[in-house]
Amino acid sequence: MELKIHNNLTRKKEVFKPIENGKVKFYSCGPTTYDFLHIGNARALVVGDLFHRVLKSFGYDVTFVRNYTDVDDKIIDRAKELNRDPIEHAALFVKECETDMNSLGMMPATHTPKVSETMPEIIKMIEDIIKNGKGYVVDGEVFFNVPAFPAYGKLSKKDLDSLQHGIRVEVDNRKKHPSDFVLWKPAKAGEPAWESPWGKGRPGWHIECSAMAKKFLGNTLDLHHGGVDLMFPHHENEIAQSEAANNCPFCHNWAHNEFLNFGSEKMSKSLGNVIKIRDFVQKYGGQVLRHILLSVHYRARLEWTDEVLNRALDEVKKIHEFAIEAKEYSAKGTFSSKEISDCIEKMKEELSNDFNSAGAMGHFFTFLKISRAHKEELSLESVTQLQSTLKFVQDALGLISVDPQKVLDELKRYDQDTSSTGVDAAWIERLIEERKAAKAAKNWARADEIRKEIASKNILLKDNPDGTTSWSVQN
Ligand code: AMP
Ligand code: ZN
Repeated sequence: MELKIHNNLTRKKEVFKPIENGKVKFYSCGPTTYDFLHIGNARALVVGDLFHRVLKSFGYDVTFVRNYTDVDDKIIDRAKELNRDPIEHAALFVKECETDMNSLGMMPATHTPKVSETMPEIIKMIEDIIKNGKGYVVDGEVFFNVPAFPAYGKLSKKDLDSLQHGIRVEVDNRKKHPSDFVLWKPAKAGEPAWESPWGKGRPGWHIECSAMAKKFLGNTLDLHHGGVDLMFPHHENEIAQSEAANNCPFCHNWAHNEFLNFGSEKMSKSLGNVIKIRDFVQKYGGQVLRHILLSVHYRARLEWTDEVLNRALDEVKKIHEFAIEAKEYSAKGTFSSKEISDCIEKMKEELSNDFNSAGAMGHFFTFLKISRAHKEELSLESVTQLQSTLKFVQDALGLISVDPQKVLDELKRYDQDTSSTGVDAAWIERLIEERKAAKAAKNWARADEIRKEIASKNILLKDNPDGTTSWSVQN
Protein backbone atom coordinates (compact mmCIF):
# COMPACT_ATOMS: atom_id res chain seq x y z
CA MET A 1 0.00 0.00 0.00
CA GLU A 2 1.35 3.44 -0.94
CA LEU A 3 1.65 6.03 1.82
CA LYS A 4 0.51 9.52 0.84
CA ILE A 5 1.54 12.61 2.77
CA HIS A 6 0.33 16.18 2.39
CA ASN A 7 3.60 17.93 1.62
CA ASN A 8 3.57 21.60 2.56
CA LEU A 9 6.46 22.28 0.21
CA THR A 10 4.12 21.64 -2.74
CA ARG A 11 0.82 22.05 -0.82
CA LYS A 12 -0.23 18.72 -2.33
CA LYS A 13 -0.86 15.20 -1.17
CA GLU A 14 1.93 13.10 -2.66
CA VAL A 15 3.05 9.50 -2.70
CA PHE A 16 5.81 9.22 -0.12
CA LYS A 17 9.10 8.06 -1.62
CA PRO A 18 12.03 8.03 0.77
CA ILE A 19 15.53 8.63 -0.61
CA GLU A 20 16.70 5.19 0.40
CA ASN A 21 14.32 2.33 -0.23
CA GLY A 22 12.69 1.12 2.99
CA LYS A 23 14.39 3.71 5.20
CA VAL A 24 13.00 6.98 6.53
CA LYS A 25 14.90 9.93 7.95
CA PHE A 26 12.40 11.84 10.05
CA TYR A 27 12.88 14.98 12.17
CA SER A 28 10.36 16.69 14.43
CA CYS A 29 10.88 19.97 16.31
CA GLY A 30 10.66 19.25 20.01
CA PRO A 31 9.83 21.36 23.04
CA THR A 32 11.67 24.20 24.75
CA THR A 33 12.29 22.94 28.24
CA TYR A 34 11.57 25.84 30.59
CA ASP A 35 8.26 24.79 32.13
CA PHE A 36 5.71 21.99 32.18
CA LEU A 37 4.21 21.25 28.77
CA HIS A 38 0.56 21.97 27.99
CA ILE A 39 -1.89 19.86 26.03
CA GLY A 40 -1.30 22.01 22.91
CA ASN A 41 2.35 20.95 22.99
CA ALA A 42 1.07 17.42 23.49
CA ARG A 43 -0.68 17.61 20.14
CA ALA A 44 2.64 18.24 18.36
CA LEU A 45 4.29 15.43 20.29
CA VAL A 46 1.53 12.89 19.71
CA VAL A 47 1.33 13.73 15.98
CA GLY A 48 5.11 13.15 15.72
CA ASP A 49 4.59 9.85 17.51
CA LEU A 50 1.74 8.95 15.14
CA PHE A 51 3.98 9.51 12.09
CA HIS A 52 6.73 7.44 13.71
CA ARG A 53 4.37 4.55 14.52
CA VAL A 54 2.58 4.56 11.18
CA LEU A 55 5.84 4.65 9.21
CA LYS A 56 7.06 1.67 11.23
CA SER A 57 3.82 -0.22 10.76
CA PHE A 58 4.22 0.30 7.00
CA GLY A 59 7.50 -1.57 7.31
CA TYR A 60 9.94 1.34 7.16
CA ASP A 61 13.16 1.38 9.09
CA VAL A 62 12.72 4.82 10.70
CA THR A 63 15.40 7.02 12.21
CA PHE A 64 13.41 9.53 14.21
CA VAL A 65 15.06 12.60 15.72
CA ARG A 66 13.18 14.89 18.10
CA ASN A 67 15.22 17.63 19.77
CA TYR A 68 15.07 19.45 23.09
CA THR A 69 15.69 23.19 22.99
CA ASP A 70 17.64 23.56 26.22
CA VAL A 71 19.39 26.85 25.40
CA ASP A 72 16.91 29.69 24.92
CA ASP A 73 15.89 33.14 26.21
CA LYS A 74 12.79 31.76 27.95
CA ILE A 75 14.92 29.24 29.85
CA ILE A 76 17.48 31.88 30.83
CA ASP A 77 14.75 34.25 32.06
CA ARG A 78 12.97 31.55 34.07
CA ALA A 79 16.24 30.29 35.59
CA LYS A 80 17.09 33.85 36.61
CA GLU A 81 13.74 34.22 38.38
CA LEU A 82 14.39 30.98 40.24
CA ASN A 83 18.07 31.73 40.89
CA ARG A 84 19.07 28.56 39.08
CA ASP A 85 21.67 27.64 36.52
CA PRO A 86 19.87 27.76 33.11
CA ILE A 87 21.36 24.50 31.85
CA GLU A 88 20.38 22.71 35.07
CA HIS A 89 16.90 24.23 34.94
CA ALA A 90 16.48 23.01 31.35
CA ALA A 91 17.79 19.54 32.27
CA LEU A 92 15.18 19.33 35.01
CA PHE A 93 12.41 20.04 32.51
CA VAL A 94 13.80 17.58 29.98
CA LYS A 95 13.11 14.98 32.67
CA GLU A 96 9.60 16.38 33.26
CA CYS A 97 8.92 16.26 29.49
CA GLU A 98 10.01 12.64 29.42
CA THR A 99 7.57 11.84 32.23
CA ASP A 100 4.76 13.49 30.26
CA MET A 101 5.69 11.71 27.04
CA ASN A 102 5.69 8.36 28.81
CA SER A 103 2.26 9.08 30.23
CA LEU A 104 1.05 9.73 26.66
CA GLY A 105 2.27 6.29 25.58
CA MET A 106 4.86 7.67 23.18
CA MET A 107 7.34 5.38 21.52
CA PRO A 108 10.93 6.52 22.18
CA ALA A 109 12.57 8.49 19.37
CA THR A 110 15.84 7.15 17.95
CA HIS A 111 17.75 10.28 19.02
CA THR A 112 16.72 13.13 21.31
CA PRO A 113 19.58 15.64 21.03
CA LYS A 114 19.94 18.81 23.08
CA VAL A 115 21.34 22.14 21.90
CA SER A 116 23.86 22.20 24.76
CA GLU A 117 25.33 18.94 23.44
CA THR A 118 25.45 20.00 19.77
CA MET A 119 27.68 23.09 19.92
CA PRO A 120 30.58 21.81 17.72
CA GLU A 121 28.13 20.85 14.94
CA ILE A 122 26.27 24.17 15.23
CA ILE A 123 29.51 26.17 15.01
CA LYS A 124 30.74 24.10 12.06
CA MET A 125 27.49 24.70 10.18
CA ILE A 126 27.65 28.46 10.76
CA GLU A 127 31.25 28.42 9.47
CA ASP A 128 30.06 26.61 6.31
CA ILE A 129 27.27 29.15 5.79
CA ILE A 130 29.77 32.03 6.04
CA LYS A 131 32.24 30.20 3.78
CA ASN A 132 29.50 29.79 1.16
CA GLY A 133 28.79 33.53 1.20
CA LYS A 134 25.40 33.27 2.92
CA GLY A 135 26.34 34.58 6.36
CA TYR A 136 28.19 37.62 7.73
CA VAL A 137 29.71 38.70 11.03
CA VAL A 138 29.07 42.02 12.80
CA ASP A 139 30.76 42.56 16.19
CA GLY A 140 30.72 38.96 17.39
CA GLU A 141 27.21 38.39 16.00
CA VAL A 142 26.56 36.24 12.94
CA PHE A 143 23.60 36.84 10.62
CA PHE A 144 22.14 34.79 7.79
CA ASN A 145 22.08 36.83 4.60
CA VAL A 146 18.56 36.14 3.34
CA PRO A 147 18.83 37.88 -0.09
CA ALA A 148 21.89 35.68 -0.81
CA PHE A 149 19.56 32.65 -0.69
CA PRO A 150 17.10 33.19 -3.57
CA ALA A 151 14.97 30.15 -2.68
CA TYR A 152 13.98 31.79 0.63
CA GLY A 153 10.21 31.54 1.11
CA LYS A 154 9.69 28.28 -0.78
CA LEU A 155 7.96 26.60 2.16
CA SER A 156 5.90 29.48 3.56
CA LYS A 157 5.28 30.87 0.05
CA LYS A 158 6.41 34.32 1.14
CA ASP A 159 8.63 36.47 -1.03
CA LEU A 160 11.26 38.90 0.17
CA ASP A 161 9.35 41.98 -1.01
CA SER A 162 6.21 41.12 0.92
CA LEU A 163 8.33 40.19 3.91
CA GLN A 164 10.07 43.54 3.84
CA HIS A 165 6.68 45.28 3.88
CA GLY A 166 5.62 43.16 6.83
CA ILE A 167 8.57 44.10 8.99
CA ARG A 168 8.48 47.32 10.98
CA VAL A 169 11.35 49.70 10.33
CA GLU A 170 14.27 48.02 12.02
CA VAL A 171 16.44 49.85 14.49
CA ASP A 172 19.02 47.12 14.08
CA ASN A 173 21.16 48.64 11.34
CA ARG A 174 23.80 45.94 11.68
CA LYS A 175 21.58 43.75 9.49
CA LYS A 176 22.03 44.09 5.74
CA HIS A 177 18.37 43.20 5.15
CA PRO A 178 15.48 43.33 7.64
CA SER A 179 14.75 39.61 7.04
CA ASP A 180 18.28 38.55 7.96
CA PHE A 181 18.25 36.44 11.11
CA VAL A 182 20.72 35.59 13.85
CA LEU A 183 22.87 32.47 13.66
CA TRP A 184 25.13 33.26 16.63
CA LYS A 185 24.87 35.94 19.29
CA PRO A 186 27.34 37.17 21.87
CA ALA A 187 26.28 36.14 25.36
CA LYS A 188 25.49 38.70 28.02
CA ALA A 189 27.03 38.44 31.49
CA GLY A 190 25.60 35.56 33.51
CA GLU A 191 24.21 33.75 30.45
CA PRO A 192 25.45 30.35 29.28
CA ALA A 193 28.14 30.80 26.62
CA TRP A 194 30.38 28.71 24.42
CA GLU A 195 33.69 29.54 22.71
CA SER A 196 33.39 30.18 18.98
CA PRO A 197 35.39 31.77 16.16
CA TRP A 198 33.25 34.90 16.72
CA GLY A 199 33.82 35.10 20.46
CA LYS A 200 31.93 33.62 23.40
CA GLY A 201 28.24 33.32 22.71
CA ARG A 202 25.30 31.07 21.95
CA PRO A 203 23.36 30.03 18.86
CA GLY A 204 20.22 31.70 17.51
CA TRP A 205 17.15 29.48 17.71
CA HIS A 206 16.84 28.15 14.15
CA ILE A 207 20.37 26.83 13.57
CA GLU A 208 20.01 24.08 16.21
CA CYS A 209 17.54 22.03 14.19
CA SER A 210 19.62 22.30 11.00
CA ALA A 211 22.70 21.10 12.89
CA MET A 212 20.95 18.31 14.82
CA ALA A 213 19.21 17.02 11.69
CA LYS A 214 22.54 16.87 9.85
CA LYS A 215 24.31 15.22 12.78
CA PHE A 216 21.88 12.31 12.99
CA LEU A 217 20.20 12.13 9.58
CA GLY A 218 22.68 13.55 7.07
CA ASN A 219 22.25 16.40 4.60
CA THR A 220 18.84 15.47 3.19
CA LEU A 221 15.81 14.26 5.16
CA ASP A 222 12.68 12.46 4.01
CA LEU A 223 10.21 14.04 6.42
CA HIS A 224 10.16 17.02 8.76
CA HIS A 225 7.33 17.85 11.16
CA GLY A 226 6.31 20.56 13.61
CA GLY A 227 3.37 22.69 14.69
CA VAL A 228 1.92 24.96 12.01
CA ASP A 229 3.30 28.03 13.83
CA LEU A 230 6.81 26.80 13.11
CA MET A 231 6.45 26.90 9.33
CA PHE A 232 7.52 30.53 9.30
CA PRO A 233 10.09 31.65 10.20
CA HIS A 234 11.56 28.58 11.93
CA HIS A 235 11.27 25.98 9.19
CA GLU A 236 11.88 28.48 6.40
CA ASN A 237 15.12 29.40 8.19
CA GLU A 238 16.06 25.76 8.73
CA ILE A 239 15.82 25.22 4.97
CA ALA A 240 17.88 28.33 4.22
CA GLN A 241 20.62 27.39 6.70
CA SER A 242 20.89 23.73 5.73
CA GLU A 243 20.81 24.32 2.00
CA ALA A 244 23.27 27.22 2.27
CA ALA A 245 25.68 25.08 4.30
CA ASN A 246 25.28 21.74 2.50
CA ASN A 247 24.54 22.84 -1.08
CA CYS A 248 21.77 20.27 -1.50
CA PRO A 249 18.04 19.97 -0.70
CA PHE A 250 17.30 19.84 3.04
CA CYS A 251 14.05 17.91 3.19
CA HIS A 252 11.63 16.43 0.67
CA ASN A 253 8.41 16.41 2.74
CA TRP A 254 7.14 18.92 5.29
CA ALA A 255 4.10 18.19 7.48
CA HIS A 256 2.57 20.53 10.07
CA ASN A 257 -0.05 19.83 12.70
CA GLU A 258 -2.81 22.38 13.30
CA PHE A 259 -3.44 23.94 16.68
CA LEU A 260 -5.31 22.75 19.66
CA ASN A 261 -7.70 25.62 20.38
CA PHE A 262 -9.27 26.50 23.66
CA GLY A 263 -12.05 29.05 23.91
CA SER A 264 -11.67 29.99 20.21
CA GLU A 265 -7.95 30.77 20.59
CA LYS A 266 -4.75 28.77 20.21
CA MET A 267 -3.85 27.22 23.52
CA SER A 268 -0.64 28.94 24.49
CA LYS A 269 1.31 30.07 27.51
CA SER A 270 1.28 33.70 26.42
CA LEU A 271 -2.55 33.76 26.38
CA GLY A 272 -2.68 31.98 29.73
CA ASN A 273 -5.35 29.53 28.52
CA VAL A 274 -3.39 26.35 29.06
CA ILE A 275 -4.05 23.00 30.68
CA LYS A 276 -0.82 21.28 31.68
CA ILE A 277 -0.36 17.71 30.47
CA ARG A 278 0.57 16.78 34.04
CA ASP A 279 -2.70 18.10 35.49
CA PHE A 280 -4.83 16.50 32.80
CA VAL A 281 -3.12 13.13 33.19
CA GLN A 282 -3.51 13.23 36.94
CA LYS A 283 -7.28 13.62 36.54
CA TYR A 284 -8.08 11.37 33.60
CA GLY A 285 -4.92 9.44 32.67
CA GLY A 286 -2.73 9.95 29.59
CA GLN A 287 -4.64 7.54 27.37
CA VAL A 288 -7.64 9.89 27.29
CA LEU A 289 -5.48 12.79 26.09
CA ARG A 290 -3.82 10.66 23.42
CA HIS A 291 -7.27 9.48 22.29
CA ILE A 292 -8.57 13.06 21.93
CA LEU A 293 -5.48 14.18 20.02
CA LEU A 294 -5.76 11.34 17.52
CA SER A 295 -9.52 11.58 17.09
CA VAL A 296 -9.11 14.54 14.72
CA HIS A 297 -6.96 14.61 11.57
CA TYR A 298 -3.64 16.33 12.34
CA ARG A 299 -4.23 19.05 9.73
CA ALA A 300 -7.62 20.02 11.18
CA ARG A 301 -8.05 22.36 14.14
CA LEU A 302 -9.01 20.66 17.34
CA GLU A 303 -11.47 22.63 19.45
CA TRP A 304 -11.27 21.65 23.09
CA THR A 305 -14.80 21.30 24.46
CA ASP A 306 -16.55 19.34 27.16
CA GLU A 307 -18.19 17.26 24.49
CA VAL A 308 -14.80 16.22 23.07
CA LEU A 309 -13.59 15.23 26.53
CA ASN A 310 -16.73 13.34 27.50
CA ARG A 311 -16.80 11.39 24.25
CA ALA A 312 -13.16 10.41 24.72
CA LEU A 313 -13.77 9.29 28.32
CA ASP A 314 -16.54 7.05 27.08
CA GLU A 315 -14.58 5.65 24.11
CA VAL A 316 -11.38 4.98 26.05
CA LYS A 317 -13.38 3.03 28.61
CA LYS A 318 -15.11 1.03 25.88
CA ILE A 319 -11.83 0.22 24.07
CA HIS A 320 -10.02 -0.90 27.20
CA GLU A 321 -12.89 -2.99 28.52
CA PHE A 322 -12.96 -4.64 25.12
CA ALA A 323 -9.17 -5.18 25.11
CA ILE A 324 -9.42 -7.07 28.41
CA GLU A 325 -12.54 -9.04 27.57
CA ALA A 326 -11.32 -9.98 24.08
CA LYS A 327 -8.35 -11.84 25.55
CA GLU A 328 -10.87 -14.43 26.72
CA TYR A 329 -12.77 -14.73 23.43
CA SER A 330 -12.59 -18.19 21.87
CA ALA A 331 -13.95 -19.77 18.72
CA LYS A 332 -17.45 -20.99 19.57
CA GLY A 333 -19.10 -20.83 16.17
CA THR A 334 -18.77 -19.85 12.54
CA PHE A 335 -19.39 -16.10 12.61
CA SER A 336 -17.18 -14.03 10.39
CA SER A 337 -17.69 -10.67 8.73
CA LYS A 338 -15.81 -8.26 6.51
CA GLU A 339 -15.79 -5.68 9.32
CA ILE A 340 -13.68 -8.11 11.33
CA SER A 341 -11.54 -9.68 8.62
CA ASP A 342 -10.78 -6.43 6.76
CA CYS A 343 -10.38 -4.05 9.66
CA ILE A 344 -6.57 -3.86 9.58
CA GLU A 345 -6.59 -3.27 5.82
CA LYS A 346 -9.21 -0.55 6.17
CA MET A 347 -7.31 1.15 8.97
CA LYS A 348 -4.12 0.96 6.93
CA GLU A 349 -5.91 2.54 4.00
CA GLU A 350 -6.95 5.47 6.19
CA LEU A 351 -3.50 5.84 7.68
CA SER A 352 -1.91 5.68 4.24
CA ASN A 353 -4.08 8.66 3.33
CA ASP A 354 -2.00 11.34 5.07
CA PHE A 355 -2.06 9.64 8.48
CA ASN A 356 -5.83 9.78 8.89
CA SER A 357 -6.00 8.52 12.46
CA ALA A 358 -9.62 9.66 12.85
CA GLY A 359 -10.69 7.55 9.87
CA ALA A 360 -8.82 4.52 11.21
CA MET A 361 -10.52 4.91 14.59
CA GLY A 362 -13.92 4.90 12.88
CA HIS A 363 -13.24 1.46 11.37
CA PHE A 364 -11.98 0.18 14.67
CA PHE A 365 -15.22 1.17 16.43
CA THR A 366 -17.33 -0.66 13.85
CA PHE A 367 -15.09 -3.69 14.33
CA LEU A 368 -15.41 -3.46 18.11
CA LYS A 369 -19.19 -3.27 18.00
CA ILE A 370 -19.57 -6.27 15.71
CA SER A 371 -17.00 -8.41 17.53
CA ARG A 372 -18.69 -7.72 20.84
CA ALA A 373 -22.20 -8.37 19.55
CA HIS A 374 -21.14 -11.77 18.17
CA LYS A 375 -18.63 -12.83 20.83
CA GLU A 376 -20.45 -16.10 21.54
CA GLU A 377 -20.37 -17.26 17.93
CA LEU A 378 -17.00 -16.13 16.54
CA SER A 379 -15.15 -18.41 14.12
CA LEU A 380 -11.53 -19.36 14.72
CA GLU A 381 -10.51 -17.10 11.85
CA SER A 382 -12.39 -14.16 13.42
CA VAL A 383 -10.78 -14.71 16.82
CA THR A 384 -7.32 -14.79 15.26
CA GLN A 385 -8.07 -11.67 13.22
CA LEU A 386 -9.39 -9.96 16.32
CA GLN A 387 -6.13 -10.48 18.21
CA SER A 388 -4.08 -9.15 15.26
CA THR A 389 -6.36 -6.11 14.98
CA LEU A 390 -5.92 -5.24 18.66
CA LYS A 391 -2.17 -5.57 18.24
CA PHE A 392 -2.26 -3.30 15.18
CA VAL A 393 -4.20 -0.61 17.05
CA GLN A 394 -1.74 -0.88 19.90
CA ASP A 395 1.34 -0.60 17.64
CA ALA A 396 0.28 1.76 14.86
CA LEU A 397 -1.84 4.16 16.90
CA GLY A 398 -1.04 3.48 20.54
CA LEU A 399 -4.76 3.72 21.26
CA ILE A 400 -4.74 0.61 23.42
CA SER A 401 -2.50 0.80 26.44
CA VAL A 402 -0.13 -2.06 27.17
CA ASP A 403 -1.82 -2.08 30.59
CA PRO A 404 -5.59 -1.76 29.88
CA GLN A 405 -6.57 -2.40 33.51
CA LYS A 406 -4.51 0.58 34.66
CA VAL A 407 -6.42 2.82 32.23
CA LEU A 408 -9.75 1.54 33.57
CA ASP A 409 -8.59 2.09 37.15
CA GLU A 410 -7.63 5.69 36.32
CA LEU A 411 -11.06 6.29 34.81
CA LYS A 412 -12.77 4.73 37.82
CA ARG A 413 -10.82 7.00 40.16
CA TYR A 414 -12.00 10.02 38.20
CA ASP A 415 -15.63 8.81 38.32
CA GLN A 416 -15.40 8.33 42.07
CA ASP A 417 -13.85 11.78 42.60
CA THR A 418 -16.78 13.30 40.77
CA SER A 419 -19.52 11.28 42.44
CA SER A 420 -18.23 11.48 46.03
CA THR A 421 -18.51 15.28 46.12
CA GLY A 422 -21.53 15.55 43.87
CA VAL A 423 -19.64 18.36 42.15
CA ASP A 424 -17.66 17.91 38.97
CA ALA A 425 -14.62 19.96 39.96
CA ALA A 426 -12.87 19.22 36.69
CA TRP A 427 -15.85 20.57 34.74
CA ILE A 428 -15.86 23.77 36.78
CA GLU A 429 -12.12 24.25 36.41
CA ARG A 430 -12.35 23.72 32.69
CA LEU A 431 -15.07 26.33 32.41
CA ILE A 432 -13.06 28.73 34.58
CA GLU A 433 -10.16 28.32 32.16
CA GLU A 434 -12.45 28.85 29.20
CA ARG A 435 -13.87 31.98 30.82
CA LYS A 436 -10.33 33.28 31.36
CA ALA A 437 -9.58 32.70 27.67
CA ALA A 438 -12.84 34.37 26.65
CA LYS A 439 -11.96 37.41 28.79
CA ALA A 440 -8.44 37.54 27.34
CA ALA A 441 -10.05 37.58 23.89
CA LYS A 442 -12.46 40.31 25.08
CA ASN A 443 -15.36 37.98 24.38
CA TRP A 444 -17.43 39.31 27.30
CA ALA A 445 -20.65 37.67 26.13
CA ARG A 446 -19.09 34.21 26.31
CA ALA A 447 -17.44 34.97 29.67
CA ASP A 448 -20.82 36.00 31.05
CA GLU A 449 -22.53 32.95 29.62
CA ILE A 450 -19.98 30.70 31.35
CA ARG A 451 -20.52 32.44 34.70
CA LYS A 452 -24.27 31.85 34.33
CA GLU A 453 -23.77 28.22 33.30
CA ILE A 454 -21.70 27.58 36.43
CA ALA A 455 -24.14 29.55 38.62
CA SER A 456 -26.98 27.34 37.39
CA LYS A 457 -25.28 24.46 39.25
CA ASN A 458 -25.20 26.53 42.47
CA ILE A 459 -21.53 27.32 42.11
CA LEU A 460 -20.34 30.82 42.90
CA LEU A 461 -17.23 32.22 41.19
CA LYS A 462 -14.97 34.72 42.87
CA ASP A 463 -12.35 36.63 40.85
CA ASN A 464 -9.33 37.26 43.05
CA PRO A 465 -7.05 40.31 42.81
CA ASP A 466 -4.12 38.12 41.69
CA GLY A 467 -6.01 37.14 38.54
CA THR A 468 -7.06 33.67 39.73
CA THR A 469 -10.69 32.60 40.12
CA SER A 470 -11.93 30.51 43.02
CA TRP A 471 -15.31 28.79 43.37
CA SER A 472 -17.57 27.61 46.12
CA VAL A 473 -20.80 25.61 46.37
CA GLN A 474 -23.86 27.62 47.48
CA ASN A 475 -26.36 25.92 49.73
P1 AMP B 1 7.02 25.64 21.94
O1 AMP B 1 7.57 25.01 23.20
O2 AMP B 1 6.07 26.77 22.18
O3 AMP B 1 8.13 25.97 20.96
O4 AMP B 1 6.12 24.54 21.23
C1 AMP B 1 6.56 23.21 21.01
C2 AMP B 1 5.70 22.58 19.95
O5 AMP B 1 4.33 22.59 20.35
C3 AMP B 1 5.74 23.31 18.59
O6 AMP B 1 5.78 22.34 17.56
C4 AMP B 1 4.45 24.08 18.57
O7 AMP B 1 4.01 24.28 17.25
C5 AMP B 1 3.52 23.14 19.32
N1 AMP B 1 2.36 23.83 19.91
C6 AMP B 1 2.36 24.82 20.84
N2 AMP B 1 1.09 25.20 21.14
C7 AMP B 1 0.26 24.41 20.39
C8 AMP B 1 -1.18 24.30 20.25
N3 AMP B 1 -2.02 25.03 20.96
N4 AMP B 1 -1.65 23.37 19.39
C9 AMP B 1 -0.82 22.57 18.69
N5 AMP B 1 0.54 22.62 18.77
C10 AMP B 1 1.08 23.54 19.60
ZN1 ZN C 1 13.10 23.04 14.79
